[in-house]
This record gives sequence, structure tokens and C-alpha cells, in this order.
Amino acid sequence: MKATRTIVCVIGTRPEAIKMAPIVHALRASTWARCVVVITAQHRDMLDQMLERLDIRPDFDLDLMHQDQTPTALLARMLPALETICLAEKPVAVLAQGDTTTVLGAALTAFHQRIAFGHVEAGLRSYDLEHPFPEEGYRQMVSRLAQWHFAPTTGASTALQAEGIAPERIHVTGNTGIDTLLQTVSKLAPVAPNAEKIILLTAHRRENFGRPMKSIFEGILRIAIRAPDARIIYPVHPNPNVHTLAHTMLGGHPQISLVQPLDYFEFVDLMRRCTLILTDSGGIQEEAPALGKPVLVLRQTTERPEGIAAGVSRLIGTEAESVESAVMSLLENPSDYHVMTGKRVSPYGDGYAADRIIDIIRTSAI
Ligand code: UDP
Repeated sequence: MKATRTIVCVIGTRPEAIKMAPIVHALRASTWARCVVVITAQHRDMLDQMLERLDIRPDFDLDLMHQDQTPTALLARMLPALETICLAEKPVAVLAQGDTTTVLGAALTAFHQRIAFGHVEAGLRSYDLEHPFPEEGYRQMVSRLAQWHFAPTTGASTALQAEGIAPERIHVTGNTGIDTLLQTVSKLAPVAPNAEKIILLTAHRRENFGRPMKSIFEGILRIAIRAPDARIIYPVHPNPNVHTLAHTMLGGHPQISLVQPLDYFEFVDLMRRCTLILTDSGGIQEEAPALGKPVLVLRQTTERPEGIAAGVSRLIGTEAESVESAVMSLLENPSDYHVMTGKRVSPYGDGYAADRIIDIIRTSAI
């Protein structure tokens, strides 16, 4: 049977590919809708690597990334390109995930053409427009435009309701990133027992550029001295603000491995094998608890409070002393480590978010 409805899925960056993948695959396997994947390629290399790994072939590649692009210039190139595609494809719905310039561009395009927009991972809030910038502003703007708000948690749903979004438009689905994570884990070989203490580090957020990043790295150097049996593995983001400082401060240290961004399957495998995770990433805050790994969050605030409330993540800021003491407490104190790992709760999803999202769209009057 040939599908009569078209749904456009817009993807811009690596985490968007990870979180849209289960929706794209489920739509492509269905007979009721035709799925058209548009990539803006707001980040080129890491997106391409991920699309290939997750077996997503885009129908349209806008190839918008420029060196030193500003969000304004990116959005200005994105809007006419997305509009042309929507005019030609006539979708009944446009879907995008998260809080990047791409999701704002997709939501605005759909709004201008009166196409229903579905926001995947809706309702995350820090209520501080500077942290993260520009993402917090984008999330709030997109929430004004969406027809369906797919909230990953009840907390996100509560935030949306408090902003006046009609409850019938909000659906608590879990996070689709956990769908992709659990599907990936099911394809990996079981973890072999390993006595090595591995600290997995990722740090790349804009609000940590400069002094906070320097102080995180100072904390890492102190940990290396206090825990000579620990190995720190850091897949370094290619952004020059991160790359140059990481190599200047940490490069060549015998306990610290600075590596290229890892293939997703390798990264998931490393998350499973490591002792603990230090990160300023959003997605990794969600993934670590689902794998039973303690996650220390290198930020001042987080829009993912559920992990902290459940005791499986801790917000430790970026000061060298707090990074050092939070890590050393987990390494030296088995009871503290057990506090974070004993419960095995996954606050952000159970692996079925995409199915729920698609059911909601399929049964809507579109
Ligand atoms: N990730 C990856 N390889 C790496 C580092 C991260 O595949 O070397 C994955 C990770 O599992 C998570 C996502 O990339 O799903 C997080 O991306 P990022 O930290 O860039 O973005 P955020 O989640 O903060 O938006």
C-alpha cells in the first residue's frame, strides 16, 4: 500500500540524529506515512558519521555549515531551503528534536505554512536564557509553535503546562535517545570483566569555553595525580575552543587519552565499560543512568533534574576543587559509588518513546 501522508523529519547535529533515528526507522517501516528526512548539516562531520552508523539516508541535504557561522546567518539560509522542500513535499507534519537552530528553523517553517509541528524532547528548561545559549531561548520559542509536545519526563510536561500549553497537546513519551541506546546495547557483545578504572570525560559546551574549561582540566590533572591507577579517556570535540586547550593542558599525559570523537557504538561500549562519567553533554546525562553509570555534570545548572533527584547524577560545576573531590569520592569510597549505582533507575526513558510518538501522530486528525 502506498502511503498518502508525508512526514518531514529535520536533523541538524549528531545528537539530533541519535534521537530522531528511532522515529525515522519506525516511520519508514510503516505503511501509513512516507518519511522524508532533511538534514541541515549544521554540524557536518559528526552528523555524517552518525547518520551512516544509524543507517539513515537523507532525502535532502541542505549542507548549510559554514566556518564560524552565526546562528542568525545559519537560520537565514535554512528558512528558504526548508520552505522550498515543504512546498514541494506538502507534509502533514514536520518533526524535529531538541534545541538547536535547526529545530527553531523547522518549527518556524512549519508554522509559516500552517503545517503541524511535533517537538521531540519538549519542555526541558533552565529558565536562564544565557545557560545554555542559545538553546534555552530556542526551546522556549519552539514550545510556542508546536502542535505536539513530546515531553521526555513528567517534569518536562509540568513545565509546559505551567507555561500555558494545553495539556492535551503534551504527551509524556520518554526520550527517544534511550530507544537508540538500548537498541545499540542489544547489538554489542557482553562487557568483559575489567579491573581498570576508566573515567570517561566529555566537555564541549559553549558556556564552558574559556575559564570554566580550564578549571575542569585542572581538576582532571589533579585526579590523575591522586588516582595513579585511573585512566581518563576524553573524546575531544573538534571545536577549536575545546580542542586547542585540551591538547595544550592534557596532551601527552600518560594517564590521559585524548581521542577523536568516537563512533556511537564505540562510545556506548566505553560508557558501559567505564567506572564513571564526567560530562557537560545533555544526551550523556540521559544515557549514563540507563547504563547504571554515575554521571557528574560539569555545569552550573541542568535542564535534566530528574537524574539528580533520583541520585544517579550530580551537578558539580566546573571548579577544579569540586571536580576533583566529586570524582575522588566515587573512586575512593565504595559506599558513595553504590549510592549512585545501586538503584538502577533510568529517569529519561524505557526504550519505547518513538513508538509512543508515532502512535500519537497516527491517531491525530491529520
Ligand atoms: N557521543 C558519541 N561519540 C562521542 C561522544 C558522544 O557518539 O565521542 C554521543 C553520546 O552517546 C550522546 C551524544 O553523542 O548520545 C551527545 O552529543 P553531544 O554531547 O554532542 O550533544 P548534547 O547531548 O549535549 O546535545
